[in-house]
Amino acid sequence: MTLKAVRGFKDILPDEAKKRQRIEEGARRVFASCGLEEIRTPILEKTEVFARGIGEHTDIVEKEMYTFEDRNGELLTLRPEATAGILRAVIEHKLYNKAPVLKLFTIGPMFRHERPQKGRLRQFHQLNAEFIGSSSPLADADCIFLAYEIVSMFADSEDLILEVNSLGCPECRPLHRKDLVLFLNNNRDDLCKDCKRRSKTNPLRVFDCKNEECQQVLKFAPVMKHYICPECASHMGRVLDALEAYGIPFVQNPYLVRGLDYYKRTTFELKARGLGAQSTVAAGGRYDGLSQLLDGPELPGVGMAVGVERLLLLMKDGAEPKRSDLFIAALGDEARTEALYWLGYLRRKGLKVEYSLEDKSLKSQMKQADKAGARYCLIVGEKEMDEEEAILRDMKTREQETVDLDDLPEILVEKLKRDRKILEGD
Ligand code: ATP
Ligand code: MG
Repeated sequence: MTLKAVRGFKDILPDEAKKRQRIEEGARRVFASCGLEEIRTPILEKTEVFARGIGEHTDIVEKEMYTFEDRNGELLTLRPEATAGILRAVIEHKLYNKAPVLKLFTIGPMFRHERPQKGRLRQFHQLNAEFIGSSSPLADADCIFLAYEIVSMFADSEDLILEVNSLGCPECRPLHRKDLVLFLNNNRDDLCKDCKRRSKTNPLRVFDCKNEECQQVLKFAPVMKHYICPECASHMGRVLDALEAYGIPFVQNPYLVRGLDYYKRTTFELKARGLGAQSTVAAGGRYDGLSQLLDGPELPGVGMAVGVERLLLLMKDGAEPKRSDLFIAALGDEARTEALYWLGYLRRKGLKVEYSLEDKSLKSQMKQADKAGARYCLIVGEKEMDEEEAILRDMKTREQETVDLDDLPEILVEKLKRDRKILEGD
């Protein structure tokens, strides 16, 4: 009998490798534009890193980990996710002494013993970002921004749904937990076997149950948002304000919980229509207590992971990563606020628009526009703002013209349409 790859472990053949390269290159560009640096931690860790970091009573630790004893009898695990290992490395090398906020990314394989299906493998790949050392809601928003930017590079933004929730903190979560346990005990007979067990070991996780009957019962369960303390509520409010400024559409889903124990406050999932049962492409949230669980110092953090295999399902065959239609180069605070408005407006119209997250010189923003492969660049400065005008630059011909901001959407759409015609005619 011929030998075959292990079930759930897939060979990546050249055609698919090409697509993956494009995804990784695109992600690296976005990570770099937000100031993240790469970290690569080992695929194998001591089991304890995940048992403590993810939580004993989670699906991952209870049933999905590849754990074995090595020749010395040490218990080791193939990493099921990236965050716990990255935090272990940050603590071990005291990286937190190097900068007040560490912005790290990693790209690589993860391993979970799950039932293989479309979009679900035993070796799968993630694009991960972590902001370690900041409790600012803007770090949460930046994480979501990264997930959204990367995914919308390869998928139509109209097909994406961003769901956001707050899981509260150690102050307010126990109050919710108490009422939830009471509710689950009262409805015990209508819950599946797993949820009966969860209601004792990890009650919040019942919301993650894929069983339709459980979901019917849970519609009436107490949800965190009615218990949330003022600090958590204000944190959430500031995350949502930042998302609005970024022009990222979202919905609040009070039933959203994550598969890992360490999440606090912000949690989010980016879902895509057309992916069927495995609809979540990217997910993440805040994990302020995780460092202490791994014997580290107090280090708040927030992170996200994009599932590469699910992104591949969203990419149409042979699809090129969508290059940017427009890059907005804004100079000065007022112009940057104006840029956010246009960013949101034009993205909602389905255009791919980027801008510089850092306040940089015009020259360096133009370089960034070039790197993003932007077709056009809109230059907004203080002077132009006063006239409600901006300069539109054709990045191919290098021609520039002054446009009235009110007419911008029309002009852009006209130009892009014309471009496509020329391309078709070629
Ligand atoms: P799910 O509910 O689909 O099992 P999860 O909550 O276990 O997801 P996370 O641990 O948050 O997933 O992982 C983040 C992302 O990694 C997911 O949104 C998904 O895109 C991807 N992912 C997770 N598990 C797998 C898998 N077994 N195969 C392929 N991709 C996966
Ligand atoms: Mg899972």
